[in-house]
Amino acid sequence: MSQNPLQMSITQLAGVGPKRAGAFARLGIFTLNDLLAHYPRGYENRQLIKKIIALKHDETVCIKAVVTGELQSKLLRKNMRIHTLRVSDGTGFLELVWFNNRFLETRFKKGESYIFYGKVRMQPKKQMMTPIFEQADKQKQTGAIIPLYPLTEGLTENFVADCVRKALALCTELPDPLPLSLRKAYGLCDYETAIRAIHFPETAAACETARHRLVFDELFTFQSALFAMKQRRIRSFTAPVLSGSAAPFIASLPFTPTKAQAKVIDEIARDMADGTVMNRLVCGDVGSGKTVVAAAAMYMAVKSGYQSAFMAPTEILATQHANSLEKLFAPHGIRVALLSGSMSKGARKTVLSALEKGDIDVVVGTHALLSDDVTFKNLALAITDEQHRFGVNQRRLFSEKGKNTHVLVMSATPIPRTLALIMYGDLDVSIIDELPPGRQAIDTFPVSEDYRSRIYAFIKKEIDAGHQAYIVCPLVEDSENESLRSVTEYAESLQKTELASATVGILHGKMKPAEKDSIMNAFKQGAISVLVATSVVEVGVDVPNATIMLIENAERFGLSQLHQLRGRVGRGSSKSYCILLTQGKGETATKRMQVMKAHQNGFTIAEEDLKQRGPGEFFGTRQHGLPPFKLANLYSDMPLLAQTTKAAQDYINGKILTSAEEKRTISDKIHALFNNHVTIN
Ligand code: ADP
Ligand code: MG
Repeated sequence: MSQNPLQMSITQLAGVGPKRAGAFARLGIFTLNDLLAHYPRGYENRQLIKKIIALKHDETVCIKAVVTGELQSKLLRKNMRIHTLRVSDGTGFLELVWFNNRFLETRFKKGESYIFYGKVRMQPKKQMMTPIFEQADKQKQTGAIIPLYPLTEGLTENFVADCVRKALALCTELPDPLPLSLRKAYGLCDYETAIRAIHFPETAAACETARHRLVFDELFTFQSALFAMKQRRIRSFTAPVLSGSAAPFIASLPFTPTKAQAKVIDEIARDMADGTVMNRLVCGDVGSGKTVVAAAAMYMAVKSGYQSAFMAPTEILATQHANSLEKLFAPHGIRVALLSGSMSKGARKTVLSALEKGDIDVVVGTHALLSDDVTFKNLALAITDEQHRFGVNQRRLFSEKGKNTHVLVMSATPIPRTLALIMYGDLDVSIIDELPPGRQAIDTFPVSEDYRSRIYAFIKKEIDAGHQAYIVCPLVEDSENESLRSVTEYAESLQKTELASATVGILHGKMKPAEKDSIMNAFKQGAISVLVATSVVEVGVDVPNATIMLIENAERFGLSQLHQLRGRVGRGSSKSYCILLTQGKGETATKRMQVMKAHQNGFTIAEEDLKQRGPGEFFGTRQHGLPPFKLANLYSDMPLLAQTTKAAQDYINGKILTSAEEKRTISDKIHALFNNHVTIN
């Protein structure tokens, strides 16, 4: 047999015919290699053999016992036969119970010893329900840690485990995909040991060692792929050198940048001046001052003789940015223009021709910037605000408006750096983890329905003092579920409350952009005092006079989303409040609301959110290109992630002793990732 056994088809295993092969195919398993990489989703520890005398109600355990009677079968009712068997282990007797299993008749010999594994009950008498069993000297399924596999119709746990066992018998001396030097440096066990132990661990510790090693493999390969991609980018592009200093701009600001802002501006300056294309993500909490950082970058580009563009997800945000940039740039002779979808044809034409001639230095706009007729004289920097609102393709189109354009994307979702590195593919990551000084904490109150009328009275008081409020409801359409209030219905219902006299506006996802903008503008100008909205208000609109954020059904939102929403208030000098109204008294909901009350820092909240909900929920699974790791958990394996980051960096920089063969193995794996999973932002 000269063939590499790993490449053998699973149909070569005894018992795997076309039908089972079809079932395996549904799980993406075609070769023995695929099968060995089909890791258990969990385990059942059947190692502990308990004494009958010590059994407790409802526990699932192993006992080792001798058969003391004959199998009794009787018809309980039509089509329902019950079988019972008495066994003993010297500490007591136990009755075993099965239903409708005629195969049992021939299975037991009185006086022989077996291992039984099943669930115990004490009522109506001490019994073990439908146990699996094996002769005591021929154990495979009992007395061990048993793997539980992801299954599909036509496959059972036992059958898959048997196939894996057979595959392992065929695949001796599995080649190790990690270089020995790396394994040594990070104290990892070898691949074969890991694969055997992940399927059939002899102890819980062996299982953990195996898992650690295999998670390392996953993360290491993925990060090597990312670093390889970055290197390729650095080697193959020549980008405009933007070496202008931001110092005069910073000196002209009405405030001193925070340390975090200054650091990020430096990182950007270095990226843009070294002749390679910048691809950087700036991740910062709401209100951390990302706009000024973007402005500094644009300033440097313009002072180096190039144009910059700034894209925002909504017209109102684009307008807001254009206005504030105009003010910031006025003293420096930088020409700013707005390009939006609602402009008149004439105005648009003027902007387009000025852009093409280079009479405009900085253009701010919505996705209107992406249309074909927008051409630049020399665009060198493309910035996307609130990047999660745009698709990868839109960002690519945007950067293609220039030649080897520097790309900066801004995100208000604070996530830990190690995770950001994984999530955002080949982007470099800058983090603003500090708010400008003097920001007040927003008082946060988790409350129940009982407080409703007091909440409205409180809002009324704030309105009478000249302030404004947001109220967020989770759903737009009328829902069967009575507890969910639609925006319209909700706004109407306010007529019967303490807020009857308030001017109420509504905002929801189904509105046209122009409608949304006009409502938002009315709110900004104070013509509306209570804005009832769906979570669309999440987008970073600045209304400093708003001091209350009431969130209905707060238990339905993710913590990070609640944090974003809360960030809509506390933008002015007045004390601000966030009220989290929850329905029901679920323990997790209470815990989550307490996190909101206790923390104001988005990064801390994001970590708590990740811990509580797991990365899948946190990121909304596939949508964000969350890499489909088989074993790694991006939250609980974060310490390992730091190690693999270093290992992958060292590997890509040639600092790890690697044989030609090992290099080929790693590069094959990286290629597989490139083709399948790595998203290039
Ligand atoms: P975000 O990061 O949410 O986009 P913005 O850029 O909109 O935040 O900034 C929020 C507010 O903070 C703006 O009014 C801005 O002028 C102000 N700001 C930014 N940086 C500082 C600073 N270093 N000191 C004081 N105020 C600042
Ligand atoms: Mg912003």
